[in-house]
Amino acid sequence: MLKRHLLTPGPTPVPPEALLAMAKPIIHHRTPQFKKVLKEAVESLRYMFQTKNDIFIFTSSGTGAMESSVSNLLSAGDKAIVIRGGKFGERFAEICESYGVIPINIDVEWGKAVDPSQIEKILNKNKNVKAVYATLCETSTAVINDIKAIGEIVSKTGAVLVVDAISGLGSVEFKTDEWKVDIAVGGSQKGLMIPPGLAFIAVSNKAMKMVECSTLPKYYFCYKAAKKSADKDDTPWTPAVTLIIGLVEALKMVKEETLEGAILRQKRMAEATRAAAKALGFKLLAPEAPSDAVTAIKLPEDVDGVKLVKTMRDIYGVGIAGGQAQLKGKIIRIASMGFMTQWDTIIAISCLEIVLKQMGYDFEFGSGIKAAEEVFSR
Ligand SMILES: *Cc1c(COP(=O)(O)O)cnc(C)c1O
Repeated sequence: MLKRHLLTPGPTPVPPEALLAMAKPIIHHRTPQFKKVLKEAVESLRYMFQTKNDIFIFTSSGTGAMESSVSNLLSAGDKAIVIRGGKFGERFAEICESYGVIPINIDVEWGKAVDPSQIEKILNKNKNVKAVYATLCETSTAVINDIKAIGEIVSKTGAVLVVDAISGLGSVEFKTDEWKVDIAVGGSQKGLMIPPGLAFIAVSNKAMKMVECSTLPKYYFCYKAAKKSADKDDTPWTPAVTLIIGLVEALKMVKEETLEGAILRQKRMAEATRAAAKALGFKLLAPEAPSDAVTAIKLPEDVDGVKLVKTMRDIYGVGIAGGQAQLKGKIIRIASMGFMTQWDTIIAISCLEIVLKQMGYDFEFGSGIKAAEEVFSR
C-alpha cells in the first residue's frame, strides 16, 4: 500500500473539510444561496490579500489572471518593466510580448532577489512605463522578493505595480494595501488549499483608472464586466461553483488559525527544511532571500535529481518537485505551503534521507531529521 504525501509547490493537499463541502450536490449560481457563498469567499479573500480593493474570482489557473493583468491595463506599444528571476517572471514577459506590449526586462540571476533600486533607475529614465510586473515568491527558485520596497518606489510614479502572489498568498507576509500593490494575483492550488481552477485578482482604484484607457482585446477576463457583476455579488459567467464552495471552507480554517498563525507555521516548516538541507551537506539555491513557501535545495553533481524525485514519489509516495528549465535534475523543491504541518516536513526529510542513502550519497543518517526536530522543538 502507498499512502501519498504531497509536498509540491502546487497543487497542495486539500483539507477534508473543503473536500467534503465540494462533494455535496451542485447548486445553481444565480441563486441567493450561491450569492451568499460568493460574498463570503470575496470577504475571506480580502483578508488573505489584506486589502479593501475589489476582488474578482476567475475560473482559470493562475496564468489566466496573470494574462488579465496585461490585457486589462495596457495597450499595444505600451512599455512595462518585468522582473525575470525565474520561470514565472519570464511568463509575464511572454504574456506582454503576446499582446504587443514592450517589456523592459530586469534579468535577475536565478536564486537571487531583485534589487528594488534597479526598478527605480528604469522608472526614472523611462517616464512612459505603464506597469511593473513582479513576483512575490518566485516558485521556480524559491526566492522571495521585497514587494514592500518595490511598492514604495512604484507608488510615487504613474505606473501600476502588478504582483504575482500566487505561491506566496496565505504562506508568507503580503499586504496588498499597505505595500501599495495595484494588482495582486492569487491562485487556488497553492497556499489557499483548493484544487487548481480558480484565480483571484485584487485591483486598486489606480489600476481601475488605467483599465478605462486600455485598448487591448479582452472578453472572458474583462475587469469591467467582472466589476459590474462583483458589485452585485455575482460573476459575469458561470463560476466554478464547487471550487468556490470549497474555498470558503478552506479559508474558514485560515481565519480560525489567523493569517499570522498560518504564516508562522509555514515559516517554521521552511526553517526546518533549510536546516535539514544544510545538515545533509547541501546548499540552498536562494540562501540570501529564501521564501518560506517553498525551499529549493541544490544537489551535488553525483546526485541525479530526476531519479531522486521519481523514487520518492513512485516508491515511497512522497511528492516533492524537481527543478524547472535549466535547473532540471539539479535541485529539489520541498513546499511548506497550505494544508501542511511540521509532520509533513519530517516525512519529506526522512524519505529524502532514505532515498539519498540508497543512491549512495554519503552523509550521517538522521542528521537532516535531527536538524529539523531542533527547529520544531524551539
Ligand atoms: C503556480 C504559479 C503560477 C500559476 O501557474 P498556473 O499553472 O497557471 O496555476 C504563477 N506564478 C507562480 C509564482 C506560481 O507559483
